[in-house]
Amino acid sequence: MTDADCIFCKIVAGEIPCAKLLDDEAGVAFLDIGPLARGHVLLIPRGHYVTLDEMPADAAGALLRHLPALAKAVRQVTGCEGFNVLQNNGRIAHQVVQHVHFHVIPRSAGDEFHFNWPGGAYESGQIEALADQIRAALAG
Ligand code: AMP
Ligand code: ZN
Repeated sequence: MTDADCIFCKIVAGEIPCAKLLDDEAGVAFLDIGPLARGHVLLIPRGHYVTLDEMPADAAGALLRHLPALAKAVRQVTGCEGFNVLQNNGRIAHQVVQHVHFHVIPRSAGDEFHFNWPGGAYESGQIEALADQIRAALAG
């Protein structure tokens, strides 16, 4: 459940320092050292999972229960207008650290963080067929 070469496992183990915000049996939250905005927080599980889909539901649930309070505290302290919760999986999705982490990124008018969000469209019947496939995958 740990990877000796993983920087976030080292943070969990207390082997390298961080600006820690909370620490319990589910995970650790701390300030990102390369913040996209002041107050950019990372929430990570204690266990070494590379991507979210590797996590057992209970471990994910126990970790994610911290998100509302973390976001509320960051909002209160930074005075941000809003925030993004972002979680990157795989290099294609801009995952650099190979240990699951949730970003809480404060947002304010005129900030430097932008999304390219090229919303598409389905052709007739495609959305139902795709939903059928995903429901089947969920049913396992
Ligand atoms: P991602 O691109 O989703 O993998 O994001 C990794 C994040 O981890 C980046 O925002 C980094 O700034 C942050 N990061 C890397 N090393 C550390 C560290 N030692 N302490 C705090 N944040 C870190
Ligand atoms: Zn790790």
